[in-house]
Amino acid sequence: MTRVFSGVKPTGHLTLGNYLGAVRRWVREDQYRADALFSVVDLHALTVEHEPARVRRLSRQAATLLLAAGLDPKRSTLFVQSHVDEHARLSYLLECTATDGEMRRMIQYREKAARERGRGGSVRLSLLTYPVLMAADILAYATDEVPVGDDQAQHVELTRDLAVRFNQRYGHTFTVPRATRPAVAARVMDLQDPTAKMGKSEGGGPGVVHLLDEPDAVRRKVMRAVTDSGRDVVHDPAGRPGLANLLEVLAACTGGGDPAELAAGYSSYGAVKRDVAEAVVELLRPVRERHAELVADPSYVDGVLREGAARARAVARPVVDRAYRAVGL
Ligand code: ADP
Repeated sequence: MTRVFSGVKPTGHLTLGNYLGAVRRWVREDQYRADALFSVVDLHALTVEHEPARVRRLSRQAATLLLAAGLDPKRSTLFVQSHVDEHARLSYLLECTATDGEMRRMIQYREKAARERGRGGSVRLSLLTYPVLMAADILAYATDEVPVGDDQAQHVELTRDLAVRFNQRYGHTFTVPRATRPAVAARVMDLQDPTAKMGKSEGGGPGVVHLLDEPDAVRRKVMRAVTDSGRDVVHDPAGRPGLANLLEVLAACTGGGDPAELAAGYSSYGAVKRDVAEAVVELLRPVRERHAELVADPSYVDGVLREGAARARAVARPVVDRAYRAVGL
């Protein structure tokens, strides 16, 4: 059976980008057709300045939201990365496989390091090695497919390179995974800045829709989305990125149709925005409702995460043990 692995970082509140780019496929497709493991990758949250209590709270919230979004612990495995030691164990072996040049070429590293330095802060070494830990997350589970948004494509490509290199050096040890991306909305853009991706890690803002946003907040953010001042509605990502983003979100929310075809049905930007707002409100309504129920039952979430970690360990341990033997340890 195909093995699927993916994760979310507890660095902020989950966004519409996380949902459309990744989580929706996990809960609607992957868990039904594959042996799927999903992780709240909390070690990755320590790569930038963090507050311990906040990381703990956000990890918990992310796990609860994944369940609220429809992740079924009877069908897939949900766990917190730091509960499974194999990630850190394997990461070290992969640090001995990757090169520093490879790490410095990673786009996310360059962007995030520049941001940290711009704030006058220092860059943690773990920000540089983050993609190696991510490779360990994936390879430890003999993963075939990694359903992610476009922003993670380069990291999955690196994971493939490391797996191939390790296998060539030490004999076949790792499955070489591949990224899978959604047909539309693989990169949801910030509603206030359609040249930047909608990201949770930067603290949100009026251009970021969170999964727990109240309907009125969603409507306000969508109606105030930045677009150009054109009149006719066409899907033109290069020329009209704000409008294209809205059309892609609408297509993704309403069943994955073609954004260009959708555009043909509209004669004003306002009408597009109104439909996007209502589609997102309807998409998020059941998630918010189920989240409220789950928050009232913390022992259920604890049980899911405990069992998930045990299952994850059982899958990862033999793979990582094999890798240790392969390198001569
Ligand atoms: P973030 O960048 O919001 O901190 P994570 O690194 O935790 O997100 O990513 C979780 C998943 O959500 C990944 O598969 C990532 O590719 C996807 N994702 C994140 N932001 C977006 C976006 N704006 N559009 C599409 N997918 C996204």
